[in-house]
Amino acid sequence: MRIALIAHDKKKQEMIELASKYESVLREHELFATGTTGMLVMGATGLKLTCMKSGPLGGDQQIGSMIAEKKLDMIIFLRDPLTSQPHEPDVSALLRLSDVYCIPLATNHASAEIMLDYLKSLK
Ligand code: PGA
Repeated sequence: MRIALIAHDKKKQEMIELASKYESVLREHELFATGTTGMLVMGATGLKLTCMKSGPLGGDQQIGSMIAEKKLDMIIFLRDPLTSQPHEPDVSALLRLSDVYCIPLATNHASAEIMLDYLKSLK
């Protein structure tokens, strides 16, 4: 599967912990990420990811465009619901497109773990 990882700043540590916990599952898949999330996950794990631009600089729109082109199968987007984001319109567009194209998307680590456990069960 082609999986995108995105985490808002206050959720980046959570994403690192999630990616580390599921490293053996994630390494079986083709991984993409927004810029900073991808660099941090690569620095903390042995995973290889294709990094887009940083989210506020267009990375969320790049991921959105991949959804529209049917180049993604799953998205884990650890959102920070308590901090306003300068690129909120881009975030909303990404979420909308994931519903338009019916792409599974987890917006918190509990739902992400359920999706990753499902992938693990397929191994
Ligand atoms: P980042 O982008 O991984 O480059 O920080 C994530 C976001 O804020 O959308």
